[in-house]
Amino acid sequence: MATTTFTKKMLSLETAEAAAPQQPSPPPATFPKKPKLGQTKSRKRDIPEGLWTKCPKCSVMIYDKELDENLKVCLHCGHHFAISARERVHSLVETCSFQEMDADLTSVDVLEFTGVASYTAKLEEYQKSTGLKDAAITGIGKIDSHRVALGAMDFSFLGGSMGSVVGEKLTRLIETATSKGLPIIIISTSGGARMYEGMFSLMQMAKTCGALAYHARQKLPYISVLTNPTTAGVMASFASVGDLIIAEPGAMIGFAGPRVIKDTTQSELPPGFQTAEFLLEHGLIDAIVARKEMKERLCAYLDFLTEGRRQMASLG
Ligand SMILES: [Zn+2]
Repeated sequence: MATTTFTKKMLSLETAEAAAPQQPSPPPATFPKKPKLGQTKSRKRDIPEGLWTKCPKCSVMIYDKELDENLKVCLHCGHHFAISARERVHSLVETCSFQEMDADLTSVDVLEFTGVASYTAKLEEYQKSTGLKDAAITGIGKIDSHRVALGAMDFSFLGGSMGSVVGEKLTRLIETATSKGLPIIIISTSGGARMYEGMFSLMQMAKTCGALAYHARQKLPYISVLTNPTTAGVMASFASVGDLIIAEPGAMIGFAGPRVIKDTTQSELPPGFQTAEFLLEHGLIDAIVARKEMKERLCAYLDFLTEGRRQMASLG
């Protein structure tokens, strides 16, 4: 009995002794931390909105002006941010050489489609937010010494979806290139066919490819540039039939999304599936070209692809 009470007393003493020195230690540990948190919050408040962008790949904050000067490529990790169609055209063509075609072509709500919002309301909303009439810009311009027919898509306009206007603008561009004997470069970024136009958007797949076939018969080159993301109806039509198919680093390229493929095939997808790097390794694309080198590389490809034609012209 005596021993048990003794040990109990000992235990209670030990716990009391152990608890005693712990009491003063927590306050100094917690107090200095709080002002530190407050400091970071106030620093965040000091940064004006819209001046800095956080890189989704390396999480570094980049000054927007620096990002623009670097063609919207992260200065730290090389992540390629989305770029508008107009910025894209300006990054490639010689100053003042671009003559835009069909700038006022506007979509019509043939199906009178209404979902959460009507198609007409969506078109108005995106025309205001982007300053574009539709998701593509087309025209003739000069890249170094080469006159080319150039088309660029814009993902910020309804996900770069291809409706009858995108299809028609690209078809007219291709037909102009065929009649004038010019190479074509189309820079794609798209979520696919525009569901608001139903079958009319799907028909653009055949129409653009048909026009490209006539262009190819004239032995004129077509370079397709795939940027993040290029998917569905666009990838399944004109974007994948280039004489040369090149892509920007890290671009997501495919037909259906990975989740749909995984569910349909009931199998695990390989790592890096549907990235430009994966498709280069498997032979679907010919090269991966960083945005900052794009103009120089396109020039080199055009030199190579039009050399025979130039020789024929000099002989004739
Ligand atoms: Zn980065």
